[in-house]
Amino acid sequence: MRGEIKQLERALRLYAGGAEHLLLEPLDLELQTALQGVGLLATKGQTQAQTQRQQTPLAMPLPATRLQPEPSSPALGAGAGQPAPALATAAPQPQVPEPLLPLEPISEPEPQLMPGQEPQRAGSLDALHVRYLGCMNCGLGSMRKNLVFGEGNPAAKLVFVGEGPGEEEDRQGRPFVGRAGQLLTQMICSLGVSRDSVYICNVVKCRPPGNRNPEGPEVAACRPILEQQLELLAPKVIVALGNVALHWLVPDAGGIKKMRGSLLQYGGSKVIPTFHPSYLLRSPSDLSLAWRDMKLVRQVFFLR
Ligand code: SF4
Repeated sequence: MRGEIKQLERALRLYAGGAEHLLLEPLDLELQTALQGVGLLATKGQTQAQTQRQQTPLAMPLPATRLQPEPSSPALGAGAGQPAPALATAAPQPQVPEPLLPLEPISEPEPQLMPGQEPQRAGSLDALHVRYLGCMNCGLGSMRKNLVFGEGNPAAKLVFVGEGPGEEEDRQGRPFVGRAGQLLTQMICSLGVSRDSVYICNVVKCRPPGNRNPEGPEVAACRPILEQQLELLAPKVIVALGNVALHWLVPDAGGIKKMRGSLLQYGGSKVIPTFHPSYLLRSPSDLSLAWRDMKLVRQVFFLR
């Protein structure tokens, strides 16, 4: 009797796994009869489908919605309208709701800084630029044509910082592209390097009206951007172009006429102040001093 129970258990296990036809060991005659009696084993000459139909009355009734054939369903074919044996034996399945929208990939817009939002550290200059594209953290934002983030080699160890974009920079969205920009390019080339090999940016990224100097609250609002740019660049030398950039980097420094050509410090970077190119265009007699400052830049950057 114990052996029969084991055989019955095994037969049921195999049947539950859909493998009753793999039952190779001969069953006792009594057991075969018992299994055939409840439709778990085909009698001689009976097909497997017939056996399954026999067991249908034993199956759990399915919810009505599961039994409704879909008219257009090719899977049901000619037998549509008749409860399929496979469905009749399956456990009730939860209804999966239709998706409301097509499940196509949606490109997520880059996050931008909203007014009053605390800046987060960006992973790259490009990401930082994108983050601040819509910045309105000070009044200059509403007056700009373009935000002038900065440009150049993202791996540069020599960085030039001015005060803010002028009219042409605002129009093009690039720093130092007017006449002052041409002079800055000459100053950079006097070092024996190309403009593309350094990085150029400003203290404020939007143009102050009438080319005035940026005011304290504007400089403070824009400060996180330049801080993060310099953190990402980690330059060896920063050239401060004019008073605004000098005092942003070294707040307690004196005026530019006094401090130009000196060696100061911002974090781990050396700071060398010199005249702003716009000032040099108005005061060409100081050009020789600016060229002397460039010699110091070359010396510190290449030799020390
Ligand atoms: S100047 Fe700076 S803080 Fe002000 S709106 Fe432009 S990016 Fe923002």
